[in-house]
Amino acid sequence: MRALTVVPMQKDSLAVQDMPAPDEGLGDLLVQGLAVGVCGTDHELASGLYGWAPEGSERLIIGHEGLGRVAEAPDESGFNAGDLVVSIVRMPDPEPCGACAHGEWDMCRNGKYTEHGIKQLHGFAAERWRVQSKHTVRLDPSLESVGMLLEPTTVVAKAWEQVDRVGGRGWFDPKSVLLTGAGPIGQLGAMIGAQRGLDVHVLDQVTDGPKPQLVADLGATYHSEPVDEVLKKVKPEIVIEGTGAVPVIRAALQDSQPYTITVLTGISNPGKETSVDLGALNRDLVLDNGAVVGSVNANLRHYEAGAKALAAADRSWLERLVTRRVPLEKFDDAFTPQPDDVKVVLTIAD
Ligand SMILES: [Zn+2]
Repeated sequence: MRALTVVPMQKDSLAVQDMPAPDEGLGDLLVQGLAVGVCGTDHELASGLYGWAPEGSERLIIGHEGLGRVAEAPDESGFNAGDLVVSIVRMPDPEPCGACAHGEWDMCRNGKYTEHGIKQLHGFAAERWRVQSKHTVRLDPSLESVGMLLEPTTVVAKAWEQVDRVGGRGWFDPKSVLLTGAGPIGQLGAMIGAQRGLDVHVLDQVTDGPKPQLVADLGATYHSEPVDEVLKKVKPEIVIEGTGAVPVIRAALQDSQPYTITVLTGISNPGKETSVDLGALNRDLVLDNGAVVGSVNANLRHYEAGAKALAAADRSWLERLVTRRVPLEKFDDAFTPQPDDVKVVLTIAD
């Protein structure tokens, strides 16, 4: 079967290859791959920065923002042939740590988890894949063209859950949220904020292309002014940071309101030093009961929440979030960024 693969840690090894059909032992569901979303992690895998092939394989099938249709499912699995499905990406440790043993592999403590399309498990950019029904979520059938957006939606579903749990330590009735970065994470996080009836604000550098209109069509406000000005004007009670950009993070931490919950979801590179008045920052965080939380990945609960959020979203808005659809064979195009990209998707045909 055809699949998009890399030799992990080897630059320019990205290629569509004929790969062995998935082994039955990998899971009770046999799934026909429909599409995968391409994200920064895939670009880093293609650049040879990291990646781990399954044992006994030189190549790793990439693609973790998967979408497929069940081809074969045993009766007791709860799934039927034809179901639209997404598999979770991260799998618990073979010998689980406490968090993994409790179904919270997104909170894994020892790093021994595996991840489809990234770490020791093949991904979903393939004509067929096998997964376990207990690690799979069914999508509303009307999400066939946009269901690959579930994985990035789970990341923000988890971020929103962190907001609820941290906020719930005291009286909490937020009215406004600022999302920094208007890529898929910022857009989908804003979509959930709008579904919650909040006053939603999204900040990004760009002033043209599809991002401002996508935000406006959620009933949210788009900003491209300097971040500190936006923070002073909007006074958000929640900040979901998705850029990983040091000046944005610094401003979000320094210019926050009392009880602000800041969820950091963007990953920055080490070595970006900046000067921060840590005394003032600590003083503000303590005296204002501020909270800064890191959040990554998602567990089954967040996949279910994400699937509900997508099912409740406007289909044409979701369609416009996918700015390019590229057939698997033309993967080079998909991996060549264009200025107006929001989410690029690879389509997999039989
Ligand atoms: Zn673990």
